[in-house]
Amino acid sequence: MQAYPILDTPRGRSAFRYPDPDGAPDDDGRRYHAALDWFAPGGHPVRSAVAGVVVEVKPSRGTTGQVFGGTCKVRAPAGLVYVMRHVAPHVVVGQPVAAGQRVAIVSPWADGPAHVHLEIWRELAGGYRLANMIDPDTITWTTAAAAAPWPPPFGGSLRLGLPGHPVWRGWDECIGRMRNIARNGLEAPGAFITWRGHRWDGARQVAGVTRHLLDKYGL
Ligand SMILES: [Zn+2]
Repeated sequence: MQAYPILDTPRGRSAFRYPDPDGAPDDDGRRYHAALDWFAPGGHPVRSAVAGVVVEVKPSRGTTGQVFGGTCKVRAPAGLVYVMRHVAPHVVVGQPVAAGQRVAIVSPWADGPAHVHLEIWRELAGGYRLANMIDPDTITWTTAAAAAPWPPPFGGSLRLGLPGHPVWRGWDECIGRMRNIARNGLEAPGAFITWRGHRWDGARQVAGVTRHLLDKYGL
Protein backbone atom coordinates (compact mmCIF):
# COMPACT_ATOMS: atom_id res chain seq x y z
CA MET A 1 0.00 0.00 0.00
CA GLN A 2 1.17 3.51 -0.76
CA ALA A 3 0.29 6.72 1.01
CA TYR A 4 1.35 10.33 0.89
CA PRO A 5 3.52 11.46 3.84
CA ILE A 6 1.17 13.40 6.15
CA LEU A 7 4.03 15.58 7.42
CA ASP A 8 7.24 16.82 5.82
CA THR A 9 9.20 16.14 9.01
CA PRO A 10 11.27 12.95 9.50
CA ARG A 11 9.18 9.90 10.30
CA GLY A 12 10.28 7.51 13.04
CA ARG A 13 9.17 3.94 13.63
CA SER A 14 5.61 3.20 14.62
CA ALA A 15 4.86 2.00 18.14
CA PHE A 16 2.18 -0.40 17.02
CA ARG A 17 2.49 -3.26 19.54
CA TYR A 18 3.51 -1.00 22.40
CA PRO A 19 1.31 -1.58 25.50
CA ASP A 20 -0.74 1.52 26.24
CA PRO A 21 -3.54 1.82 28.84
CA ASP A 22 -5.42 4.25 26.53
CA GLY A 23 -4.72 2.19 23.42
CA ALA A 24 -6.81 -0.03 21.17
CA PRO A 25 -7.91 -3.36 22.70
CA ASP A 26 -7.16 -6.77 21.22
CA ASP A 27 -9.64 -9.63 21.51
CA ASP A 28 -8.39 -10.39 25.03
CA GLY A 29 -8.75 -6.80 26.22
CA ARG A 30 -5.03 -6.00 26.20
CA ARG A 31 -4.48 -2.48 24.91
CA TYR A 32 -1.86 -1.27 22.48
CA HIS A 33 -0.80 2.12 21.13
CA ALA A 34 -1.56 0.81 17.59
CA ALA A 35 -0.32 3.95 15.88
CA LEU A 36 2.58 5.99 14.56
CA ASP A 37 3.47 9.17 16.44
CA TRP A 38 4.81 11.51 13.78
CA PHE A 39 6.47 14.52 15.37
CA ALA A 40 6.27 18.08 14.03
CA PRO A 41 5.97 21.51 15.61
CA GLY A 42 2.53 22.82 16.56
CA GLY A 43 0.93 24.67 13.65
CA HIS A 44 2.71 22.51 11.07
CA PRO A 45 0.49 21.53 8.07
CA VAL A 46 -0.93 17.98 8.06
CA ARG A 47 -1.68 16.48 4.64
CA SER A 48 -4.05 13.71 3.64
CA ALA A 49 -2.30 10.38 3.12
CA VAL A 50 -4.78 9.35 0.43
CA ALA A 51 -7.38 10.67 -1.95
CA GLY A 52 -10.72 10.17 -0.24
CA VAL A 53 -13.51 11.71 1.75
CA VAL A 54 -13.44 13.27 5.21
CA VAL A 55 -15.66 11.05 7.38
CA GLU A 56 -15.14 12.56 10.83
CA VAL A 57 -13.93 15.85 12.26
CA LYS A 58 -13.60 16.76 15.94
CA PRO A 59 -12.35 20.19 16.95
CA SER A 60 -9.45 20.55 19.35
CA ARG A 61 -10.04 19.66 23.00
CA GLY A 62 -7.21 21.83 24.20
CA THR A 63 -3.43 21.66 24.36
CA THR A 64 -2.78 19.84 27.66
CA GLY A 65 -3.17 16.32 29.06
CA GLN A 66 -3.12 13.01 27.20
CA VAL A 67 -6.19 13.73 25.05
CA PHE A 68 -5.41 16.99 23.33
CA GLY A 69 -6.12 18.50 19.95
CA GLY A 70 -8.84 17.25 17.64
CA THR A 71 -9.39 14.40 15.20
CA CYS A 72 -9.67 14.09 11.43
CA LYS A 73 -10.55 10.85 9.61
CA VAL A 74 -10.18 10.39 5.85
CA ARG A 75 -11.54 7.30 4.11
CA ALA A 76 -10.05 6.10 0.83
CA PRO A 77 -12.44 4.66 -1.77
CA ALA A 78 -11.22 1.12 -1.05
CA GLY A 79 -12.22 1.49 2.59
CA LEU A 80 -9.02 2.15 4.55
CA VAL A 81 -9.43 5.01 7.02
CA TYR A 82 -6.55 7.29 8.05
CA VAL A 83 -7.19 8.58 11.57
CA MET A 84 -5.18 11.64 12.60
CA ARG A 85 -5.32 12.66 16.26
CA HIS A 86 -3.86 15.68 18.11
CA VAL A 87 -4.63 17.94 15.14
CA ALA A 88 -6.77 21.02 14.47
CA PRO A 89 -8.81 20.06 11.39
CA HIS A 90 -9.30 22.49 8.49
CA VAL A 91 -11.88 20.40 6.60
CA VAL A 92 -15.53 19.37 7.02
CA VAL A 93 -17.27 16.00 6.99
CA GLY A 94 -18.16 14.89 3.46
CA GLN A 95 -15.45 16.95 1.84
CA PRO A 96 -13.43 15.15 -0.88
CA VAL A 97 -9.68 15.56 -0.45
CA ALA A 98 -6.70 14.76 -2.64
CA ALA A 99 -3.62 12.89 -1.45
CA GLY A 100 -1.24 15.53 -0.19
CA GLN A 101 -3.99 18.09 0.37
CA ARG A 102 -3.71 20.04 3.61
CA VAL A 103 -6.44 18.87 6.01
CA ALA A 104 -5.30 20.11 9.43
CA ILE A 105 -2.47 21.59 11.43
CA VAL A 106 -0.58 19.91 14.25
CA SER A 107 -2.08 20.85 17.58
CA PRO A 108 0.36 22.52 19.98
CA TRP A 109 0.94 20.45 23.15
CA ALA A 110 1.95 22.03 26.43
CA ASP A 111 2.89 18.71 28.08
CA GLY A 112 5.31 17.24 25.53
CA PRO A 113 6.54 17.34 21.93
CA ALA A 114 3.71 18.03 19.48
CA HIS A 115 2.91 15.16 17.13
CA VAL A 116 0.20 13.55 15.04
CA HIS A 117 -0.99 10.18 16.35
CA LEU A 118 -1.80 8.30 13.14
CA GLU A 119 -3.92 5.15 13.09
CA ILE A 120 -4.88 3.26 9.92
CA TRP A 121 -8.19 1.42 10.15
CA ARG A 122 -9.19 -1.38 7.80
CA GLU A 123 -12.74 -0.07 7.77
CA LEU A 124 -14.66 2.72 9.47
CA ALA A 125 -17.25 0.38 10.98
CA GLY A 126 -14.49 -1.74 12.52
CA GLY A 127 -13.84 0.93 15.13
CA TYR A 128 -11.11 1.39 17.70
CA ARG A 129 -9.86 -2.21 17.93
CA LEU A 130 -6.39 -3.58 17.28
CA ALA A 131 -7.76 -6.14 14.82
CA ASN A 132 -9.15 -3.27 12.74
CA MET A 133 -5.79 -1.54 12.46
CA ILE A 134 -2.80 -1.73 10.14
CA ASP A 135 0.72 -0.96 11.30
CA PRO A 136 1.70 2.35 9.61
CA ASP A 137 5.22 0.94 9.22
CA THR A 138 3.85 -1.46 6.58
CA ILE A 139 2.83 1.46 4.35
CA THR A 140 5.09 2.80 1.60
CA TRP A 141 5.18 6.53 2.27
CA THR A 142 5.67 8.23 -1.08
CA THR A 143 4.60 11.43 -2.76
CA ALA A 144 3.84 9.29 -5.84
CA ALA A 145 0.71 8.20 -4.00
CA ALA A 146 -0.88 11.49 -5.04
CA ALA A 147 -0.99 10.24 -8.61
CA ALA A 148 -2.18 6.68 -7.87
CA PRO A 149 -5.51 6.26 -9.63
CA TRP A 150 -8.62 4.82 -8.06
CA PRO A 151 -9.94 2.50 -9.18
CA PRO A 152 -6.82 0.91 -10.65
CA PRO A 153 -7.20 -0.10 -14.32
CA PHE A 154 -8.80 -3.30 -15.64
CA GLY A 155 -11.17 -3.61 -12.68
CA GLY A 156 -13.97 -4.65 -15.01
CA SER A 157 -12.25 -8.00 -15.59
CA LEU A 158 -11.62 -8.72 -11.91
CA ARG A 159 -13.67 -11.52 -10.31
CA LEU A 160 -12.97 -13.30 -7.07
CA GLY A 161 -14.82 -16.46 -6.14
CA LEU A 162 -14.62 -18.28 -2.82
CA PRO A 163 -16.78 -21.29 -1.93
CA GLY A 164 -19.95 -20.30 -0.10
CA HIS A 165 -19.92 -16.66 -1.22
CA PRO A 166 -21.42 -14.81 -4.18
CA VAL A 167 -18.70 -13.82 -6.66
CA TRP A 168 -17.09 -10.43 -5.94
CA ARG A 169 -16.73 -8.19 -9.00
CA GLY A 170 -14.48 -5.20 -9.56
CA TRP A 171 -11.98 -3.48 -7.26
CA ASP A 172 -14.50 -2.02 -4.85
CA GLU A 173 -16.05 -5.38 -4.06
CA CYS A 174 -12.84 -7.41 -4.17
CA ILE A 175 -10.26 -5.22 -2.44
CA GLY A 176 -11.15 -5.96 1.18
CA ARG A 177 -11.19 -9.72 0.60
CA MET A 178 -7.97 -9.53 -1.40
CA ARG A 179 -6.19 -7.74 1.43
CA ASN A 180 -7.45 -10.40 3.79
CA ILE A 181 -6.05 -13.13 1.53
CA ALA A 182 -2.72 -11.32 1.16
CA ARG A 183 -2.46 -11.02 4.93
CA ASN A 184 -3.74 -14.40 6.08
CA GLY A 185 -3.28 -16.65 3.07
CA LEU A 186 -6.03 -18.84 1.67
CA GLU A 187 -7.01 -22.44 2.21
CA ALA A 188 -10.32 -22.60 0.35
CA PRO A 189 -10.31 -25.22 -2.41
CA GLY A 190 -12.55 -24.14 -5.26
CA ALA A 191 -11.37 -20.53 -5.11
CA PHE A 192 -10.77 -18.71 -8.37
CA ILE A 193 -9.78 -15.30 -9.64
CA THR A 194 -10.10 -13.79 -13.10
CA TRP A 195 -8.13 -10.88 -14.53
CA ARG A 196 -7.86 -9.53 -18.06
CA GLY A 197 -9.21 -12.64 -19.74
CA HIS A 198 -7.24 -15.12 -17.60
CA ARG A 199 -8.55 -17.38 -14.89
CA TRP A 200 -6.66 -19.03 -12.03
CA ASP A 201 -8.09 -21.80 -9.88
CA GLY A 202 -7.12 -23.08 -6.46
CA ALA A 203 -6.15 -21.42 -3.21
CA ARG A 204 -2.45 -21.25 -3.96
CA GLN A 205 -2.83 -19.61 -7.34
CA VAL A 206 -5.52 -17.21 -6.12
CA ALA A 207 -3.32 -16.09 -3.24
CA GLY A 208 -0.37 -15.61 -5.58
CA VAL A 209 -2.30 -13.57 -8.14
CA THR A 210 -3.91 -11.53 -5.36
CA ARG A 211 -0.55 -10.59 -3.85
CA HIS A 212 0.81 -9.75 -7.29
CA LEU A 213 -2.09 -7.41 -8.10
CA LEU A 214 -1.98 -5.62 -4.73
CA ASP A 215 1.75 -5.16 -5.11
CA LYS A 216 1.54 -4.06 -8.75
CA TYR A 217 -0.97 -1.32 -8.00
CA GLY A 218 0.47 -0.25 -4.66
CA LEU A 219 -2.60 -1.38 -2.72
ZN1 LIG B 1 0.32 8.20 19.96
